[in-house]
Amino acid sequence: MRFKAICLIICSLFTAPKTEALEICGDLKQGELLLIKGANAKEIVISDNLQDKEYKVYDNGIALIALHRDAPPKVQLRVYNYADATTFYDLQIAPMKWDIQRVNGVAQHKVTPNKQHQKEINRELADVNKALTTRSDYNFWKQGFILPVDGRISGNFGNQRVFNGIPKNPHSGTDIAASAGTPVKASGSGKVVLSGKDYFYTGNMIIIDHGAGLQTIYAHLQKAVVKNGDEVKQGDIIGYVGQTGRAVGAHLHWGASLNGVRFRPHSLLNINDKRCKKMQENIWGNK
Ligand SMILES: [Zn+2]
Repeated sequence: MRFKAICLIICSLFTAPKTEALEICGDLKQGELLLIKGANAKEIVISDNLQDKEYKVYDNGIALIALHRDAPPKVQLRVYNYADATTFYDLQIAPMKWDIQRVNGVAQHKVTPNKQHQKEINRELADVNKALTTRSDYNFWKQGFILPVDGRISGNFGNQRVFNGIPKNPHSGTDIAASAGTPVKASGSGKVVLSGKDYFYTGNMIIIDHGAGLQTIYAHLQKAVVKNGDEVKQGDIIGYVGQTGRAVGAHLHWGASLNGVRFRPHSLLNINDKRCKKMQENIWGNK
């Protein structure tokens, strides 16, 4: 696995009387999750042309933020601190070259749904939207995350997808190829906020809430073995790989959402990185 975590000290680009340091752990690229720490921060807002959202701040000014797949080259953070001062930071975001992924052999009715299917799609969208707007006080995300299944990556996050020659929305997660029936593990501990069946696009799908507005998504399952409201521990088997919904071949679609922003799920693993852990130790006194 290749990922690089960086810790930067970025000084305010504005000439505030007293410049507060901002620590960042993660990659400053489109579609990435970042762990950040702002001195004395009580409120952190990320602002660009795609989002203007407040991210929950934990003790000692730590917060998780997600960079949008299409984030512009410059994203502004506003950090409000306990001294009632506001510091502005401009983050330079590296653009990604998203691939075009052509998928052929998809059942045509899954590419151009009719009215009857649209009703099913609306049920799916409503359920998913409700699950991804869950906001809990859980701190499960602090434990870090693991891969839910081992396998070859068969579809990257962010790819522009073309099904049977028809362009569709960018890929909202990462596909991991594995044999049908392979156990799928919970990437992190949390509470199941959706265990839905027979969805048009995602088939059988589970969404787990980890706190901080962060959820992970597991789709196209052959079978789910947890239900809404269940609490799961990291590594627990929650279902089995399948190809339900709009899937060609058995694989797990693994997704992640923070504050409603989908990001590359593998960047969750950055939280386990030594330097991110160091940041966590300073804050929570973890070993
Ligand atoms: Zn997928």
